[in-house]
Amino acid sequence: MQRKIDEFLKDVNTVAIAGHVNPDGDCVGSCMGMYLYLRDNHPEIGADVYLEKPRSSFDMIEDIDKARQVCSAVRYDLLILLDISSQDRIGVAGALLKTADRVLCLDHHKTNRDHYTWLFNYPDLSSTCEVVWNFLDPEKISEKCAEALYMGIVHDTGVFQYSCTSPRTMRIAASLMEKGIPFSRIVDSTYYEKTFIQNQLLGRALMESFLMFDGKMIVSCIRKRDMDFYNASPADMDGIVSQMRNTAGVEVSVFMYELETGKWKASLRSVDKVDVSVVAQIYGGGGHARAAGVTMQGSCYDVVNNLTLYLEKELV
Ligand code: AMP
Ligand code: MN
Ligand code: MN
Repeated sequence: MQRKIDEFLKDVNTVAIAGHVNPDGDCVGSCMGMYLYLRDNHPEIGADVYLEKPRSSFDMIEDIDKARQVCSAVRYDLLILLDISSQDRIGVAGALLKTADRVLCLDHHKTNRDHYTWLFNYPDLSSTCEVVWNFLDPEKISEKCAEALYMGIVHDTGVFQYSCTSPRTMRIAASLMEKGIPFSRIVDSTYYEKTFIQNQLLGRALMESFLMFDGKMIVSCIRKRDMDFYNASPADMDGIVSQMRNTAGVEVSVFMYELETGKWKASLRSVDKVDVSVVAQIYGGGGHARAAGVTMQGSCYDVVNNLTLYLEKELV
């Protein structure tokens, strides 16, 4: 039987909700969706939400300005971790892991193997927002909570395109839509809309991309000095790897940007054959079969060489 969030709130007076570093749409949507559900249905509980500074494209989400970037309390009765994939990605609320009385982790990353008081990890579900929805009473989901959850589902399914989308995902999206949410605006302003700088960086990454393995793999990178020139942050790199993946004939796309000199964040996407989470895990990262990420050291050529050691076997 599906468990519900209320079961985990017995004797709980304080709750912290936290996501992962560089929060994406699913992370922000699931954290804010959970926060708004508790605010609306359990006003007696003191709930705080922790998110690394969310990008401005998420401004339309209710109460996003309440998200905290600094850990102000030392302990909570319950810590709810959402979409984190791995314990070392908790970020701003990392310290709470040791002090919280109980920890509930809801996730959909097949590479999540850490231990918590309760871990409910469903790699077959499209998004953590879909997981969260299952823990809520649909009748008690407000329009504002529905907006946040819908946004997360939209982002992790690439607007209902990726193979993680299921009939069940669509039914959940439909029930959220029935709450009267501005669904077109959510997709437009949180997913498709880009700043001028983001589009310039995308153009640059595409211009400098190159093909490997008979066109089955596409690779590109953006160096720190170029990011500095555009005054760009990691959030500005969102979507580049997916656009590269749209190239005809490509099975795997790899995009990386330099976090600091000699340290790269690589994003991997696969069309439908290669499980990119396997190679990400070899180098200490993780994710899903079709979307994974990892941080690696060296020059960008070192990173490509190390990743292709594995990917070549899958692609040639
Ligand atoms: P990204 O390339 O950052 O968009 O990430 C793709 C997917 O892999 C997302 O679901 C991330 O949560 C996950 N992911 C990215 N980096 C890591 C990492 N270092 N460890 C575990 N999972 C990751
Ligand atoms: Mn995420
Ligand atoms: Mn997710």
